[in-house]
Amino acid sequence: MEACNTYYYATRDPLGAAGDFTTAPEISQMFGELIGAALADVWARAGQPRGARYVELGPGRGTLASDALRAMRSAGLQPPVHFVETSPVLRQAQAAAVPHAQWHDSIADLPTDVPLLVVANEFLDALPIRQHVAGIERHVEVIGGALAFDRDGEIVETSPARDAVTAEIAGRVAKQGGAALIVDYGHTATGPGDTLQAVRGHHFAGLLDKPGEQDLTSHVDFQRTAEVARSAGAAVAGPVEQGPWLERLGILARARALANAAPDRTAEIEACRARLCRPDQMGSLFKLLAIRAPEWPTPAGL
Ligand code: SAH
Repeated sequence: MEACNTYYYATRDPLGAAGDFTTAPEISQMFGELIGAALADVWARAGQPRGARYVELGPGRGTLASDALRAMRSAGLQPPVHFVETSPVLRQAQAAAVPHAQWHDSIADLPTDVPLLVVANEFLDALPIRQHVAGIERHVEVIGGALAFDRDGEIVETSPARDAVTAEIAGRVAKQGGAALIVDYGHTATGPGDTLQAVRGHHFAGLLDKPGEQDLTSHVDFQRTAEVARSAGAAVAGPVEQGPWLERLGILARARALANAAPDRTAEIEACRARLCRPDQMGSLFKLLAIRAPEWPTPAGL
């Protein structure tokens, strides 16, 4: 999974209609704007500490960052921008959207002495998982010239890679001050289940088809993520469902303001809002977990 995704992201921009999948910030500017507003608000309530940085993990095309930074600027916050991104193709797109950003290969390279305002949307789901059947790790093998899983049964998933990223971000935020908003699809409680999925051209595909040419992800275990963050010394709020969270942050008012400014786009804006919020679309499967320094306030909407 790690090798496939490294190749996959290094060789293409997978986002949007012409690609394989579409993410919330690519659906509507409202998503990034509300995240920016929530970060500016938590920073203000923390006493506007000096030197705070905007950090995004796996920023895609830089769309979320550019929308969030615009909203932060109108709230009086203009932080330096740090992107953790390994794909050269996506770094190029990010540079077009946010020219003054600084890029890093890993979280370890982020500045160590300033508060961090961290965003990760659909980042953890792309990090590799392990699957186990009756306590034995499931492997992919070449059987009769084709790729196949070596065992079936009730599956339990773990992700040392996600745990490591979560612990690192939570540890940094706890020590340096700040907050992290983790948004992804996943479940509230740890439990068995096979959630590995492959997506190509906006449709589910066979898991072992075309290695490195389709998006491999799995659902995030938010209970586990919260436990790892707490063990690293951070405070945690959530997870909460994306739809109600965006509604508490004011997406209805934002949609109305955008529609008033561009009446001919009213139906399109409403359709985007519904896609982000409705429980039968992205509103319920997608969740938000907030990780913060113990002395920082809880971000809005939780
Ligand atoms: N957050 C964006 C993109 C999500 S796709 C959005 O919401 O649109 C996943 C992103 O994570 C891509 O930018 C991909 O290049 C990046 N990524 C995947 N694995 C990574 C890794 N191990 N280290 C850094 N970035 C990674």
